[in-house]
Amino acid sequence: MVKTYQYRIYPTKAQTQTLETQLDACRNIYNQALAWRKNTYEQKGGSVSYVQQANALTPLRGGSTFWSSLHSDVLQDTLRRLDKGFKAFFRRIKAGENRGYPRFKGQGRYRSMTFSHLAKTLIRGIGGRMARLVVPKMGEVKICYHRPLPNGNIKTLTVQRKASGWYANITVEVDDVPKAAIETAVGVDVGLESFLTTSEGEKVGNPRHLRRAELKLKRKQRIVSRRKKTSHRRRKFVHELAKQHEHVANQRKDFHGKTAHRLYSEYDAVVVEDLQITNMVKNHHLAKSISDAAWGTFISTLGTCAKAENAGLHLLCVPPHGTSQICSGCGEKVIKSLAVRIHRCNSCGLVLDRDHNAAINILRVASTLRGGALVVNSPNEARNHTDTRSFTSPRALAVGS
Ligand SMILES: [Zn+2]
Repeated sequence: MVKTYQYRIYPTKAQTQTLETQLDACRNIYNQALAWRKNTYEQKGGSVSYVQQANALTPLRGGSTFWSSLHSDVLQDTLRRLDKGFKAFFRRIKAGENRGYPRFKGQGRYRSMTFSHLAKTLIRGIGGRMARLVVPKMGEVKICYHRPLPNGNIKTLTVQRKASGWYANITVEVDDVPKAAIETAVGVDVGLESFLTTSEGEKVGNPRHLRRAELKLKRKQRIVSRRKKTSHRRRKFVHELAKQHEHVANQRKDFHGKTAHRLYSEYDAVVVEDLQITNMVKNHHLAKSISDAAWGTFISTLGTCAKAENAGLHLLCVPPHGTSQICSGCGEKVIKSLAVRIHRCNSCGLVLDRDHNAAINILRVASTLRGGALVVNSPNEARNHTDTRSFTSPRALAVGS
């Protein structure tokens, strides 16, 4: 498994200048390569491969001191990113999703470069908090080495510019943890009112400060798009906004990480609905679209967390099929709109919080898919929908053996 470690770096003024110039050169290459692909398609209906484009780098670098001053890793990686963009584009067409043709990148829109051929000792002068990072073709850059890299093969170094400053992302290949047997599993449903509800009826709310900050940002974003493109005020505002975006993203990441960790500290497996299968409709409801986006990142956090936890835990994804409409008590269909928060079944008399009912169904689908390996408790006593216990009392589900 490859893990990424992020560190803040402090390039000097001259180094910053070089990095900026190189990022802009990458942007240039990216745009040229994109134009090449686009023109070839429009004029001849043909396509250009990554290899063809990478081969064109050799004469370019041979004929210019500027281009040869850039590391070949970085240029190849730029072309690879474009190639990835095109592959994703074709995959989306095939799946009948929104297409999203790869776009030309405007000034400042290319933000990172990746090196794969690195110095044997990537970090030098380790002692205190500050050390030196060896960036290929550039030399040593001050780095805040706040936590040690694990033992393992270092794969890549990505130097990234963010609104708050410069960062180094280092990927390291570490050993996979063997998967644990599933003894306890929990189903998780996503909601608008609470961030998630488990099949045990536990709820995790949306942190209010995060929700507020997200809504505020989205509104400000709309103001920016109304401002005059070239104005100085707009540019300043955009930078401020980018910094706030980064801050909120960090807060969200922190919240997701803690929530995922809490779930995995109590259960061996977490079951969620696979949103990639749902053809997620782009909706214009602000809060809803934010919660959908957050849910996507949370699932990937769960995935990383499952691998990273020492025991090798599981994230199970099930196809979303009417889990909110089916009664978890008797299997009867109980049609209700999104506004109806409580599930009431006329067949078996079950009264349950809507999301709780859905979470039980999600867990049940996973159990069925795994040949009934996960035994799901029936909610035999109708629980009060205001029941909002926190994660303190795990009542793990029994698993058939
Ligand atoms: Zn029922």
